Amino acid sequence: MIEIRNLHKSFGSLQVLKGIDLSLEKGKVLVIIGPSGSGKTTLLRCLNLLETPDAGSLKLGSTEIGFDGGRKPGKQQTLKLRQSTGMVFQSYNLFPHKTAIENVMEAQIVVQKKGKEEARKRSAALLAKVGLSGKEDVYPHQLSGGQQQRVGIARALATDPDVMLFDEPTSALDPELVGEVLKVMKQLAAEGMTMVVVTHEMKFAAEAADTVVLMDDGVILEQGPPEQVLKHPSSERAAQFLNLLT
Ligand code: ADP
Repeated sequence: MIEIRNLHKSFGSLQVLKGIDLSLEKGKVLVIIGPSGSGKTTLLRCLNLLETPDAGSLKLGSTEIGFDGGRKPGKQQTLKLRQSTGMVFQSYNLFPHKTAIENVMEAQIVVQKKGKEEARKRSAALLAKVGLSGKEDVYPHQLSGGQQQRVGIARALATDPDVMLFDEPTSALDPELVGEVLKVMKQLAAEGMTMVVVTHEMKFAAEAADTVVLMDDGVILEQGPPEQVLKHPSSERAAQFLNLLT
């Protein structure tokens, strides 16, 4: 489903991604961990072209884009890639003046050109799926952070993406609200959704990931099954980050 080859990205003179290679099969969950500033979010944002890589290539589903020689993706390619991904942000990014169900309906109407009733029906089903039946007509500020993030997940699912991208989805939440969001994510994973998740939740990584990638300073330091990466990393730097050294 995803293949990334030798991906590079700089912001000015700051090299943030220094040659990233990874691949992910359909239905699998990839969890990206690593110290703050290591390039995790930038990598995730490159996957749906919220950031344009400087070099390397990216394949997502049937869309393949090369960036070598400063090549930029075309409008159609960008649109296609965006439509095959659903993104969940740390800060939810819901429309404050739209109700929960209107937030979920929006892209179906604007992007997919669905009729209002069809979009409403699908959105109600998605809100039920994330445990928010009965909250259709409330506004984001009337919901807890955990509930808002679950609306964010329903919204990202609404356009039937091939891959769901999560950017630290629980980092802004009070600790007691983290569990309800992770539960929805685990349920999605169990249903076979292909997912890339940037997170600091090591328990989630251990339980839900098929592959864990540990990034440091723009490169992949470790990559493998959670048991291997989290418990038996091969480098001292990784062990340090994971607090495995005494
Ligand atoms: P992480 O998600 O691992 O914390 P990020 O990908 O957010 O890391 O950031 C990696 C580095 O790139 C940081 O030093 C950050 O300040 C820098 N960075 C990220 N986005 C931008 C941007 N749009 N412009 C300039 N620098 C950026």
